[in-house]
Amino acid sequence: MNNQSRIKILDESLCNQIAAGEVVERPASVIKELIENSIDAGADEIIVELESGGCKLIRVTDNGQGMNRQDVFLCLERHSTSKIRRAEDLFALTTLGFRGEALASIASISRFRLRSCAADDGLGQEILVEGGKVRKAEEVGMARGTLVEARNLFFNLPARRKFLRREQTELGHCADVVTKQALSHPAISFRLLHNGRSMLELRREKGLAERVAALLGRTLLSEMQVLEVNDGAGMRLHGLIGQPTLNRSASSHIYTFINGRYIRDRVVQHSIMDGYRHLLMKGRFPVVVLFLEIASDKVDVNVHPTKHEVRFREQAMVHDFIAASLQHQLKPAARVQPVPRELRAEVSHLSPSPAPRMTVESQVQAPLIREPVAPAYHSPVPPGAAEEASAEAAPVVEDSSAVTSIGVEATRQQEGQNRYYSSLRYLGQYHNSYLLCQDGDDLLLIDQHAAHERIGFESLKESFSRGEIEQQCLLFPEMLELDFRSGQALKEHRGDLARLGFDVEPFGGKSFALKAVPQLLVSGDNGRLIVDIALELEQTGSSSGLIDKLDEVLILMACHSVIRANQALDPREARALLEQLDRVDFNANCPPGRPVMQRLQLVEIERMFRRH
Ligand code: ADP
Ligand code: MG
Repeated sequence: MNNQSRIKILDESLCNQIAAGEVVERPASVIKELIENSIDAGADEIIVELESGGCKLIRVTDNGQGMNRQDVFLCLERHSTSKIRRAEDLFALTTLGFRGEALASIASISRFRLRSCAADDGLGQEILVEGGKVRKAEEVGMARGTLVEARNLFFNLPARRKFLRREQTELGHCADVVTKQALSHPAISFRLLHNGRSMLELRREKGLAERVAALLGRTLLSEMQVLEVNDGAGMRLHGLIGQPTLNRSASSHIYTFINGRYIRDRVVQHSIMDGYRHLLMKGRFPVVVLFLEIASDKVDVNVHPTKHEVRFREQAMVHDFIAASLQHQLKPAARVQPVPRELRAEVSHLSPSPAPRMTVESQVQAPLIREPVAPAYHSPVPPGAAEEASAEAAPVVEDSSAVTSIGVEATRQQEGQNRYYSSLRYLGQYHNSYLLCQDGDDLLLIDQHAAHERIGFESLKESFSRGEIEQQCLLFPEMLELDFRSGQALKEHRGDLARLGFDVEPFGGKSFALKAVPQLLVSGDNGRLIVDIALELEQTGSSSGLIDKLDEVLILMACHSVIRANQALDPREARALLEQLDRVDFNANCPPGRPVMQRLQLVEIERMFRRH
């Protein structure tokens, strides 16, 4: 018995299922593989149909070159591909696919139908496969092209099936895949249908800008500029990059492609953030659609089965090239090429020839921080409070390590009662951003922006819990354009938004009309705020809803409602702010964030001046 070998070679269909485990995580991964095949087949029209977020049905139809009868059978074999022949080909890839695993994998974990025709005779071949076994094959009448259908994904792998999320989530991932492929192939028309309803209709376009307008909105496009840089040694970076003022709370709008392939690479991601360094506030991400072209022997795409990752031969060089290109372009004085004006107004009238690179003088960059809004939460100033204070405060903090960071929570314990901030001696404002106060012998620096944010947050939270966020109808509704996922999130959470004081009405396609906003935010840039909130909400399930993300959303709202840094406050306004700080219930759940106050003790100051 011991002589018998314990090791067995696995049968073909099990091998395919194992491979499928790597390639197919969810419906979106199937769509990615199928669209890549259609693109490789030279299609210029691709239709994706889904049922139940793709869990029930995925069907991709293209008008590409198709396959003949033999190839229809062959393509389902593991490692069957028409795209490479030799090992060297791996480093000179011109196609998106090359591993020859996708179809075999997908067919092993679904009820699979493939129909293809490679000639103009109207005769195609159809094959039905179930869990990797061929059930039926026959000739069918069809035009040149290919149709691939995968029903009941993971029907034979219940354990994997359990990992599928609810329909809307899976649909979101699928739409993401289509979005990315569509961005990198503007000349191909794409349609996405879900349960028979059209979700995306993208006609063939002349270029990236038109595609970006169609997918992400014309408003967004108008805040982007063209980038086109060659390093003279075979590397080329091109695409559209957003002004720093166009930013998001998540990195989901950083679209990067390497040699035409959507890649989410750490090095590239980092280099982009480096390019925007000092231009974005912490926690904010730019909007970019960037293509890096690099000699195929300088990058290895065969690193991961889904080809989502790459390995660069000269990582640092790629990083620095991207970062420097962006930095140069984003410099206010840089000569940049904005998106052509006619494109902003009406995309379809675009002239076909791209403008020569780096010729047009850039518009003056919008300031990073918006114009301050009128101070909210104005409280009546007690008579006589307008005390004269020396506004010219000396730059106190030379060695910032000497500053002790004290959270407001800690302070509250010392304060005894709610008169702490208003009882401080107000000395003046420093750098239009900090209130200098004296507490006994200590010097306090209060960040006016952080303080206002905190006050705004607490007050919003309180009104929300009482169901009393006051709403103000806008005289003219503001029109918003959102990408597919954010749009879905808004539709799904309309009720929640109403509780927050927003009335957002779907207006067909990716358009929405913002009809009312919370009273508090009337003077703010609410379009931007809604985009941010939608991004937050995207990450919640509908079952959990707003409550899960309440703090994050209220922080966003508070940010938009308050005094910014760089705003001169007169002593009356400063005092009012201190008094409001006293009214805040800091025992309530505090938003994660920056400290409101820093304390510098007399001994520390004396030490700085070598006194004892
Ligand atoms: P790969 O794309 O890595 O070659 P796949 O398993 O995805 O592997 O596909 C196997 C082969 O089937 C491809 O190389 C191609 O020749 C053929 N094929 C797949 N999809 C299509 C399609 N939509 N149109 C034409 N040929 C296709
Ligand atoms: Mg493929």
